[in-house]
Parts: sequence; structure tokens; C-alpha cells
Amino acid sequence: MSSPGRLRDGEAAGWSTTPHAWVAWWAAALVVIFFLASASVWLAPPQSSVAAWWPASGVAVALALWTRRDRLPLTVLGIAVVTTLANVWGGRSWETAVGFGVANACEVVVVAWFYRGASAPPGFSRLPDLGRLVLAAAAGAGAAAVVAGVTVAGLDPSAFVTMRAVFASHAAAILIIVPMTMAHPPARGHAPRQELVVQSVVLALVVGAVFGTKGELPLAFAPMPVLVWGAARFGVRIAAAQLLLSGVAMSLLTTAGRGPFPFAVERLDYPPETVGTLLQAVLVASALVSLPVALLTDELAASLTRARTSAETLEGVMEAATQTAIITTDLVGNVTSFNAGAENLLGWTAADVVGHATPAWWHDADQLDLRSAEAGLEPGLRVLVEPLEGGSASDRRDWVWRTRAGEELIVSLRVSPRHDAEGRRIGWLGIAEDVTRNRRAEQVLRSALDREREAGQRLVELDRAKTDFIASVSHELRTPMTSVIGNLEMLLDDSLGATTPAQRLALQRTDRNARRLLMMLEELLLLSRVEDGTFDLRVRRTDLVEIVEQALHTLDVARGRSGVDVELHAPGEQVELDADAEQVERAVMNLVSNALKFTPAGGRVDIRVRDEGATVSVSVGDTGVGIAPEDVDRLFDRFYRAPSAVREAVPGTGLGLSIVRAIAERHHGSVTVDSRPGEGSTFTLRLPATQGDESTPA
Ligand code: ADP
Repeated sequence: MSSPGRLRDGEAAGWSTTPHAWVAWWAAALVVIFFLASASVWLAPPQSSVAAWWPASGVAVALALWTRRDRLPLTVLGIAVVTTLANVWGGRSWETAVGFGVANACEVVVVAWFYRGASAPPGFSRLPDLGRLVLAAAAGAGAAAVVAGVTVAGLDPSAFVTMRAVFASHAAAILIIVPMTMAHPPARGHAPRQELVVQSVVLALVVGAVFGTKGELPLAFAPMPVLVWGAARFGVRIAAAQLLLSGVAMSLLTTAGRGPFPFAVERLDYPPETVGTLLQAVLVASALVSLPVALLTDELAASLTRARTSAETLEGVMEAATQTAIITTDLVGNVTSFNAGAENLLGWTAADVVGHATPAWWHDADQLDLRSAEAGLEPGLRVLVEPLEGGSASDRRDWVWRTRAGEELIVSLRVSPRHDAEGRRIGWLGIAEDVTRNRRAEQVLRSALDREREAGQRLVELDRAKTDFIASVSHELRTPMTSVIGNLEMLLDDSLGATTPAQRLALQRTDRNARRLLMMLEELLLLSRVEDGTFDLRVRRTDLVEIVEQALHTLDVARGRSGVDVELHAPGEQVELDADAEQVERAVMNLVSNALKFTPAGGRVDIRVRDEGATVSVSVGDTGVGIAPEDVDRLFDRFYRAPSAVREAVPGTGLGLSIVRAIAERHHGSVTVDSRPGEGSTFTLRLPATQGDESTPA
């Protein structure tokens, strides 16, 4: 016996094959149906109006289920024609043959309608599939039985016997053949091959013993437990094959007049059709018992495989994590698993720990006690999982662990609950990483930063102390210095008696130095006041041109002495700005007096006042000695004087430019320099035109 075969997805008859391939399958299936039907008609029991079995219907249904929807009408027509021809060939009248052909076609349509899904090739792998198949088989066989019954006997009461026989033989054929042709899940995890051999032999022996002899009627069901054995141990594939093979064997033997049924029917004087009906009833019962068992077996095997695979994956992951400790415990903390990472980190093996230890073995006891007390808990491990009692999914904290060798580690530990399939909490999962190095590095970094901040504060304090010191020393020295200069003046103008020329020379030198000292004290005092902000700016609207003119006027004496040509370039109108005029004048004076000091006689100084919109500027350019590039950056430092100035004993304190810069910055302005040694320098003081709120000192 043959069937459309084990058709798989994609190679199926008419499902996704080329039309060519489909025609080949289709034709082959129809030929098979023709021969099966003919054989069944030939082998029908003597005097019986119908065949004892009808495997052709199983094959026809399988063909229809594997046929694409749009090709279904052609397939049904083919089945009707082939069945009719087989019946005629088997010796039946044309009328009966056509009736049986129609009956078969109706059956195929009904089963296809019940069982087919929307598109995919039909599968047979779960219990609901069996339910649908049983329903479809009953409906299809019922349809065939009604049509066949009416064909054979019209509305005669004897039609019932025909119907019963057709129903049983067709339903049995569908239930036994169709599962064989469906797509099954691959068999996994089933019993060993030897057992299959033994079971198959036992099945053959039982079928042979019961159906090959003049068997006793109650023994007709003897093959059933053996079929169930096969189903339970080897799954759907084997169960369907054994059903089919034993069904064929039982049918052939029964047709040959052997087995329990022909004998019983003869003895009890039942109609001849009863033989087939009883046989098919046994086959249906066998299918209904063994197929569910087989389906469940397959499902169980599949879910066992799935469970094993995921357990293996999990185990693999746990073992692969050699740097991460993964530890599970039960609800009270007894360790239930301990991975390679945990072994590496802690130094115990899983064998040492699992079933023997709790995490108290490696958790730092003092830390546990301390945190327990903080959380208001009894000392112990509870504190590890306490945050999870509130329902949060996990808790991550740093903990101190102690290895087997006594070494201290800092770990970042994430604890989460473990649940069973019903969602009940069964224990805890801890995943820990060694963060000792990171945490120590963090600590070192943090204390280095603290130290740096402290040092910075200290520097600021020192700087303030130094400024205070300079301010108070300058202040204290100014009064005695003024008095010294006053007395020197009296000595020099002979108010205290005549002086000799030598005394006079000494007094003049002393007076010069005393005045220099006083100037330095005043500049220092001014600088420290401007710098520490104790100096109040008196900001008002003023004219930069006027300020510069005033400064030049003050410097008139020096200008006269220097032999340097000084020229002011200013716009015809006022250049307004909000500033402390006195301070700006002081800054301009410093710049101009520097230009005069560092420009040899015959040179020139050009002073330019500009209104630049948002800012105003005054630049002082000279044709003097200029400044070496390496000195430029330090010019504005306190007491800095270029080596050439020191060498050539140009008078000065090194404070002038510091004061200019301090004044510029108090006004939110700037001072810049552009210089070339030997060619001259240009200093530019740039100030904002307005200072915002006039009332507040800047
Ligand atoms: P001082 O003029 O009292 O020495 P300053 O702070 O005003 O102090 O100037 C610092 C140094 O900058 C000077 O000693 C000098 O070397 C240099 N300098 C300032 N102005 C000029 C200039 N116009 N040309 C050349 N060098 C200058």
C-alpha cells in the first residue's frame, strides 16, 4: 500500500511545488487511489454490498489536505472519477459505481472543509489536531455513508447496514492513514531502537495470533495495548505507521476469512457487512487510544528537550562567567549552586559549598551586623534580601567579602528572588562582580582631589595673608616715610642750619631714594586695595579725551625733560565712558610715563583715543626700546621689570603695569601690548563704554 507519502513542507503535492511536480504527485495519488479502491472491491466479503475496508478514502483525504485551495475542485473531481472507475472495474454496476464515486468526493470535501487551515500544509502534532481530525473523519465518513447507503438501497431500511459499514471503514481509513501523511515534529528523546524492534515483533505476533487464526471475539482488542506501548514510547510517527501496518494486516486477514470477526458473524448470523464494521470499529478504537498517547508523548519529549536545552544553556552561561560569581540559595540562604566565577573569586569549590554553606561564609560579619542594625533588623543574612521584601525586582549594593584565604574583596552584588513555575518564591539569586580595584582607585582619586582642594584653599588663604601683610606694611611705613621726607626737605632748604656741599649731596641722594620708597609704598597700597576689592570705584559718565589730556598735563614736567615728541590723536568730540576717572587717569599716566622712560630722546610717543562703539580705547605707542618676546607675558606681574630696564637702571618699581591691569579688570576692561625689540611698543587700554548699573561700584 502506498500513499502520497511523507510529504514535507515545500516538497508537498501541490502546496508550494511547481505545477509540473504537482501534476506528477496528483496523478500518482490518483493511481494509488484507483488500485486501493479496486483491491477493496475485489476483496469485499462474499454477499456484502460494501467493502470490508476502504483505504482509498484515507489516501484521497490526504491528497485533498495537501492540495492548494485553488486546485481542490480538480482534485475532488479526479477522486470521484477514479473511485467510480475502480468500482466499475471491481464488477459493480455503473449506477452503484457513480454513487460510490460521489460518496467519496463528498467525503473528501467535508473532511477538507473541517480540517484544513487557511494556508499552511496541515500538521498533526498536538492533541487539538487529533480532535479536529476525529471530527472531520466522522463528518466525512458520515457524508459518504449517507450517499453510499442511498445509492445501494434507496430508502430501504437495509441501507442502514450499508451506511454503518461505510461509515466505519471510511472513518477508520481516515484516522489510520491521514496522520501518517501529516507533518510531524521530528522525533526526539524517544526510547531505544532495540525496544522498538521488540515492540514491533510483539505487535506482529499478537496481530498474527488474533487475526491469523480462528480467534476468539474478545481477543480482537488484544493488539491495542501493544499499539499503545509503541505510541507511549516512540511518538506519533511510529504510532501512525504501526496503526497503518497493523490495520492493513488485520483487514487483509479478516478479508481472507480469518480472525475473530468472520467466525463470530457466521455463528451469530449477522449480515455480512458486519464483519467489516466490527473490524473497522476495532481500528478506530485503536487509533483513538494510541494517537492521543503518541501526541502527548511527542509533546512531552519536546518540552523535556526544551527544558533540558534551556537548563544546559543556563549552566553553560553560569560556567562561562568565570569572572562573575553566580550563586543561588534557597529561601533561608542555603547555597544551591555555585558557579566557576564564584569558585575563582572566593576560593571554595562548589562541592565545598553547595548544601553546606550560606553566604555568611564569605560576607564580612561586621558589615552584615552594622547594616542589619541600620535597617533595624536582627543580625544575620536577612539584610541582604530585605530591600526585596517590598516587592522590588532586585537590589544592588557593594559588600565586603572575605575569600577562603582571608583576602578582603569589595563586590558589587545584585540579589533577586527566584520563583517556581507557579510564581512562588523559592530562593535567591546573587550575581557579584569584584570591584575591589575600581573602588580602591575611586577612593585614592577622591582623597587626592580632597587634598588638592585643601591645597588650593591654603594657597588662596596665603595669597590673602600676603596681600594683607603688604597692605598693612605699606600703610605703616607711609607715615614715617612722609616724616623722613619732610625732615629731609627742611635740611635741604637750610631751615635747620647751613649744610656743607658734601652733606647736601648725601641729603639729596637720601631724598631721591626716600621719594622712590614712598612712591613704591603708595603703589603697593593702591595695588592691594584694587586687587582685594576694598578700593571703591567712583564710576560716573566721563570723557576719555579729557582724562587723557589731564594725564598728559600732569606729566608735563617729565615730558619736557625727556626730549621725546608726544602727540595726542583724539576724535573732535567726546569719547564717553562710565568709569572712575581718577583711576583711568592713573592707568593712562603709568602707560605714558613708561613710554617716555623707555624711549630715547628724539623718539616719539603717539597717544590715540578711539570710540569703538561698545568699548573705548586709549593706545600709547612709542618708538622706544621695545620688549623681548619672552618678557611680554610677565610684564604685568608684580615687581617684574625686563632685564634691560634693570641693566640700564631705568627708574621704576615694576608695579606700574600691574596697577594698570588691576584698574582695567575692575572696570571689566583689558590691557594688551604689542611690541618689537628696538622698534617700540604699543600698550592699549580698552574699557567698556558703559558699566551697567552706575550706582554700584564695579
Ligand atoms: P616699571 O616701569 O616701574 O619698571 P612697570 O610695571 O610699569 O614697572 O613695567 C614693567 C616693565 O615693563 C618695565 O620694567 C619694562 O621692562 C617694561 N616696559 C613697560 N613699558 C614699556 C615700554 N613702553 N617700552 C619698553 N618696555 C616697557
